[in-house]
Amino acid sequence: MHKKSITIALAGNPNSGKTTIFNNITGTRQKVGNWPGVTVEKKEGSVSKYGHDLKIIDLPGTYSLTPFSIEEIVARDFVIEESPDVVIDIIDASNLERSLYLATQLRELDCKVLFALNMADLATSRGTKIDADKLSELLDVPVVFTIGNKNTGIDSLLKAAIKLAGSKSKISQKRKVKYSNDIENSISKLQIFIEEHIEQTLPYNTRWTTIKLLENDKIVREHIRQKTGNKSLKIFREVETHRKHLLDRFDDDPEIVMTDERYGFIAGIIKEVVTKSKKRRIDTSRNVDLVLTNRFVGFPIFILFIWIMFQTTFVVGSYPMEWLDSGVNWLSTILETSLPDSLFKELLLNGIIAGVGSVIIFLPNILILFLFIAIFEDTGYMARAAFLMDKIMHLIGLHGKSFIPMLMGFGCSVPAIMATRTLESNKDRILTILITPFMSCSAKLPIYILLAGTFFSARAGTVIFLIYITGIILSIITGRLFRSTLFKGADAPFVMELPPYRVPMIKSLIIHMWDRSKMFLKKMGGIILVGSVIVWMLTAFPRNINYSMDYNEEINKINASFTEKQKKAAITKLKLAEQAEKAEKSFMGSIGKAIAPVFAPIGVDWRGSVALLTGFVAKEIVVSTLGILYAAEVTDEPDALKNALLSSEMTSLSALSLMIFVLLYLPCVATIATIRRETGSLKWTLFCIVYSTSIAWAAAFCVYQGGKILGLT
Ligand code: GDP
Ligand code: MG
Repeated sequence: MHKKSITIALAGNPNSGKTTIFNNITGTRQKVGNWPGVTVEKKEGSVSKYGHDLKIIDLPGTYSLTPFSIEEIVARDFVIEESPDVVIDIIDASNLERSLYLATQLRELDCKVLFALNMADLATSRGTKIDADKLSELLDVPVVFTIGNKNTGIDSLLKAAIKLAGSKSKISQKRKVKYSNDIENSISKLQIFIEEHIEQTLPYNTRWTTIKLLENDKIVREHIRQKTGNKSLKIFREVETHRKHLLDRFDDDPEIVMTDERYGFIAGIIKEVVTKSKKRRIDTSRNVDLVLTNRFVGFPIFILFIWIMFQTTFVVGSYPMEWLDSGVNWLSTILETSLPDSLFKELLLNGIIAGVGSVIIFLPNILILFLFIAIFEDTGYMARAAFLMDKIMHLIGLHGKSFIPMLMGFGCSVPAIMATRTLESNKDRILTILITPFMSCSAKLPIYILLAGTFFSARAGTVIFLIYITGIILSIITGRLFRSTLFKGADAPFVMELPPYRVPMIKSLIIHMWDRSKMFLKKMGGIILVGSVIVWMLTAFPRNINYSMDYNEEINKINASFTEKQKKAAITKLKLAEQAEKAEKSFMGSIGKAIAPVFAPIGVDWRGSVALLTGFVAKEIVVSTLGILYAAEVTDEPDALKNALLSSEMTSLSALSLMIFVLLYLPCVATIATIRRETGSLKWTLFCIVYSTSIAWAAAFCVYQGGKILGLT
C-alpha cells in the first residue's frame, strides 16, 4: 500500500519548544537549548505514523516573517517556496501576546496553519487561562495544547495536522487579519491593479504580495521584478502612489502602521481569549534574576560557576579516568605477553594503544564538561551569562548576543562559528568568528588535564580554569583591537532575551552527553586512529639506527651486578634513554629537530613541537603524539606517560607555556574549513590562522621567558 506523504513545517518564536517537539515526533536528537537562536538551519526528520509518511522540518525561530535576519529569511522562504502541506506554529502559551505576531503573519500567507499552544504547563502555573476554542474560532485555525518536554499532546497535534492536510476548505476564504479602512482600500485597489496587469501567476497569493509591496519588502519586490520584467516598473509606480497616499494619511511609513495594526489586532485577540487569575503569583525567575544578573554579585557568581565546572571536570573526572587508564594498561599488558614480537605488535602497542589509548581515557572529563554546558543551556543560565557579558562585550563593540556563540566554543568551535549566523550584521559576524577560536574547545581539554595534572597536581583544576579565562580575556582584547582597526563602526542595537529558568530535563541532558561522547568516540576511531598510526610510523622508522651505545649489553651488565631494587630503576632509565635515542633518530625526530628552533624560545622541545604540529589535524592528537613519543614501550606501567613527562626536560613552566600555545594557536582543520565557509573569504581564513598562531607564540614566549626571569621553573 502506498502511504500518503505529508510535509509538516514547525515554525515559532525562538525558545518556544520547536526542537523539543521535533525531537518528540521524529525521535531524533537535535540540539535543544534554552536560549534564542540555537536553530539557525532548518532540520529535517521523517517518521511514519497514522498511515502517513510525515516529513517534519524544524525551522529556525523567528518573531516575524519580515526578512530582517537570516532566520527569518530561511523560515519565510521555506513556507513560501516549498509550500509544506501544513505549518504548525509552536506558540509559547505563557507568552501568547508575543507569539501571536508570527501567528498572524502566517495566517496571512496562503498556507494551512495549525497552532500548538506549547508550554501549557507554564501558562497554567502562571495563572494564565487560554480559551483555545475562542482562539481557534477567531483566527479560523485549529488549536492544540501541548507540553513539549513531557511529550503531552503531541499525538493530538499530529492527528490534527494530518486532518488539516487532508481538508479541502479553501484557505483564501478563511478569516484574515483586517487592517483599517484606508489600508484595506489600498490593498484591494492595488490587488486589482496587479491582477489586471500581470498575466503570469504570481509566486504567492496576491493579497499577501500586495501587502508586502506596500510594506516595501525588498525580497518580494525582487521576485516581482524577476517574474514580470518590464511590467514591474508599472506596478512599482502604482505601489509608490499608494505608499505615498498612506504616508500622507498616517504620517508614518505604511510598514510601521501595518505592524501597529497587527499588534492592535493581537491585543484584541488577547482580550478575548486570555483570562488571568487574580492570585498573585511569585515570579521565581524574576527573583532568581535579581541575584544572578545583579550588577555586583552576578559576575563573581558567573566566574564561580565556571570555576566549579572545571574543578569538577578535573577532580570528579579523575576517578573514572583512572579506571579507564588501568583498563588500557591491562589491555596492553595482555597483548604484550600474548603476542609474538612483530612489527604488527609494535604498531598495535606503541602506535594505536599508546596513541588512541592516551586520549580515550579523557572521555569522562569531556562528558562532565558537556554535562555542565548542557545544564547551563537548559536551565536558561547561559542567556544570563550572555546578559552579564553584554556590558563587557560592549567594550569591544559587540553585544551579549555574540557571547553565546563564544560560550558554545567551549564545546567545539565548529557549531560555535555556525551559531554566529544569528548575528544580523556581517561585520559583527566576522569579528565574532575571528575571536571565537580563543574560547578553548573541549578537544584541548585532554592536553590541559594531562599537562596540568602532571605538573600542577593539586592545583590542576584552577590552572585549567585560568587557561580558559585567559582565552576569554584574550578574545575580548583582540576583539577590541579588531573593532578599532578592521571593523570600525557601532554595533546593531539589540535587546537580550531572558527566557524563564527551567528545570532541565534529565533526558535532554543525557542526550546532549551521549551525542558528544558519540562524536568523541567516532573521532577516536577515525582521525585520531589514523593520526596515531602515521605518527607511530614516522617514529618507528627507519629501523636500522646507529645507537650511541649498546643498550642491551648495558642492561645485561646491570642485571649481573646491582641489587634488585637498584636494578629496576637503572634498567628503566636505560630503556627510556634507548627509546629516546630511537625516537630522536626516527623520521619524526628529524621533522621535530627541523622545527624545534621555532619553539625553543617558548620552552618546547622537539617532541612538543611535533605534537603541536600534529594538533593541526585535531587537537586531541597532541596527546596521542606525546603518548607515542614519550611512553612507547613502557605503557604497561600505570601513569607511564605522566612519569615519562616528569622525567623529561619538561618543567612546570614549559608545560604552562605549551598549554598557552595550545590554547591560542591555529584552529583544527574542521574549524578552519568552517571559518572559510561561514566568512566566505579566504582572506579572513588565512588572517585567522596567521594571527592566532602569532598571538600564541607571543603569549607563550612572554609566559616562558617572563617566568624564567622571575626564577620560576
Ligand atoms: P526552540 O528554540 O523553539 O527550538 O525551543 P527548544 O525546543 O530548544 O526548547 C526551549 C526550552 O523549553 C527547552 O529547555 C525545553 O526543555 C523547554 N520546553 C519545551 N517545551 C516545553 C513545555 O511545554 N513546557 C516547559 N515547561 N518547558 C518546555
Ligand atoms: Mg530549536
